[in-house]
Amino acid sequence: MPHLATRPTWRCQSCGIAWPCSAAKLRLLADYRDDRSALLDHLAALRDEAAVQLGDEPAVNLGDRFVTWAQFR
Ligand SMILES: [Zn+2]
Repeated sequence: MPHLATRPTWRCQSCGIAWPCSAAKLRLLADYRDDRSALLDHLAALRDEAAVQLGDEPAVNLGDRFVTWAQFR
């Protein structure tokens, strides 16, 4: 199965761990290798969607989980 997020739990449908898993991150970096700012926009949109669906997860944790890993590579 592809490493995609399951909503509204935001776990990887393949690994079962919190999305994005390592495989999902590698896939995203490959897909957006020519446009990092588009990747960050995409991740920020997912973070905002997850924040609504996960509710009680602190926003700062979601920022690290969804966006920060992609910022400096
Ligand atoms: Zn996965």
